[in-house]
Amino acid sequence: MSDWQRQPVTASARPANDLDVVVVGAGLAGLYMLHRLRGLGLAARAYEAGRGIGGTWYWNRYPGARCDIESLDYSYSFSEAVQQEWHWTERYASQAEILRYIEHVADRFDLRPDIRLATRVIATTFDEVAGRWTVETDRGDRVTAQYCIMATGCLSAARIPAIPGLETFAGRWWHTGAWPHEGVTLTGRRVGVIGTGSSAIQAIPVIARRAAHLHVFQRTPNFSVPARNAPLDPADERRAKADYAARRREARASRAGFVTPATEQMERSALAVAPAVRRRAYEARWERGGLGFTSAFADLGSDLAANDTAAEFFRAKIRATVRDPLVAEALSPRDHPLGTKRLCADSGYYETFNRPNVTLIDLRTTPIAAITSRGVLTSGAEYPLDDLVFASGFDAMTGALRAIDIRGRAGVSLRERWADGPRAYLGLMVADFPNLFTITGPGSPSVLSNMIVSIEQHVEWIADCLAHLRAHRFRAIEASAEAEAAWMAHVEELGNATLYPLANSWYMGANIPGKPRVFMPYVGGVGAYRQQCDDIAARGYAGFSLTA
Ligand code: FAD
Ligand code: NAP
Repeated sequence: MSDWQRQPVTASARPANDLDVVVVGAGLAGLYMLHRLRGLGLAARAYEAGRGIGGTWYWNRYPGARCDIESLDYSYSFSEAVQQEWHWTERYASQAEILRYIEHVADRFDLRPDIRLATRVIATTFDEVAGRWTVETDRGDRVTAQYCIMATGCLSAARIPAIPGLETFAGRWWHTGAWPHEGVTLTGRRVGVIGTGSSAIQAIPVIARRAAHLHVFQRTPNFSVPARNAPLDPADERRAKADYAARRREARASRAGFVTPATEQMERSALAVAPAVRRRAYEARWERGGLGFTSAFADLGSDLAANDTAAEFFRAKIRATVRDPLVAEALSPRDHPLGTKRLCADSGYYETFNRPNVTLIDLRTTPIAAITSRGVLTSGAEYPLDDLVFASGFDAMTGALRAIDIRGRAGVSLRERWADGPRAYLGLMVADFPNLFTITGPGSPSVLSNMIVSIEQHVEWIADCLAHLRAHRFRAIEASAEAEAAWMAHVEELGNATLYPLANSWYMGANIPGKPRVFMPYVGGVGAYRQQCDDIAARGYAGFSLTA
């Protein structure tokens, strides 16, 4: 280890406007990045738009918000001490518990002094002569840095649909991704929820228990598997902690960043086994709960007929749960294959529609016409409401990046560069934007994985890269246009071999009117992806140009 690596400096030791690195965002990605940069002895500062750290887990405080990756896996692996000392109380941690955990990590590594809260980065411009980025914020800060690292999140740009009349609504309304921190009392109120994605599916059962009446406005029904959340089994915790390193190794080498128990069938086609065998396999996964369902057979993600056996299993479960057959049918997804929109995990979602105080409004038959002062007006009726919840999703993967005026060589704008869809090499860097990194950017496994595994991999790759540049006296790294094009072709080819392009999902940009229809994440799996990133680094950062 060289001297500069041994002597961490903090931003406060440097002139306030002259940094080695600016990190944008202080969620799981930005915080770990800051920690690694400190370890490299670099002067780094993070800017965070929120008034607190935590990213997703700071913003999304809606009733029922929790993880759907098991707590023992959805946690940092970089510190053996932290993973041993932290105790998760439930199989799937709640938003509040994850936020406590993130704050614990930030305090343990004393990260807060280098984070500027309530400060949004609005522009960042590369100065080709100085070889530095100038970063500007909405508070008037203007700092320069050699490197700029975007840890802005894939699901951080909340989206309210453009429904006419919202400004006339006399009641209260919120987006799930910007939920009031003081909490809201829904007891005895007439509540409407627009949307039936993962956020809504978590919130609806909890809101239904509090509200006088809940109206659920559904445009597209989703597939949801029971989460089977429960207090964390102490035996499971002991087993994991006895050899946490092995569990993490397996997760890193896996497809999705977490490992589900291996079964005989998971390497086979769903169509290669007898219907009774298939049903038993699905039942076992359903009983176990959680997102591992899609690993029941090898071809659920690539073969429509195989997928339909699983989709029909779900629809049968919905029919068996929901007493009103018309409501059950309206809740049954038929327009996209299972898993091509992110699978949801719930705690009593379908059962909620048996409650007398819950009404499903099928927007396929009666679309929303407007929001009025009293509530939601569809082509069928007006629904008077006191409170309206937008569980309407995010401008995913590119929204937070495009919100910043990012300008690279010759003033080229990232927004313009991505006008036809995002392009990046490894999801890490964009040609013509030297020394600018994106953590879990488009073209990387990111949202198709246990995201903390992908975040750690990117942070560590970037930190190693910066150490390499410094050790070899390079001042800049940049993706080549050829490497970027070849990588995007690879991402597209893999995506096209799956069923994902068949759905109007946010993976495809289809939830945002006018957004280019491009399958944005890399579907080859986190293990294979990591291997490629490591090989590229080992080959002297092949596909990148390094300049002295
Ligand atoms: P974020 O947590 O989104 O943090 C990015 C931060 O950057 C935000 O705080 C934002 O305010 C800030 N920011 C953005 N732009 C700017 C700017 N211009 N200036 C300053 N600050 C800026 N993933 C899973 O793997 N498993 C799950 O179970 C899971 N559950 C989820 C539940 C919800 C409700 C949501 C919305 C997402 C969930 N995710 C889940 C995905 C989740 O986003 C990631 O797991 C992870 O938290 C992302 O961390 P991050 O630091 O990359 O981004
Ligand atoms: P989402 O999956 O994009 O769902 C948004 C919902 O709003 C969809 O049902 C959508 O319908 C609906 N909608 C949007 N605009 C509408 C309009 N104009 N009229 C009617 N309905 C409209 O968003 P999300 O639920 O917030 O989840 C986003 C992602 O965050 C998830 O996929 C997941 O990755 C993550 N997340 C995870 C968890 C978890 O369980 N851990 C919880 C929440 C979120 P259409 O489908 O018809 O567009």
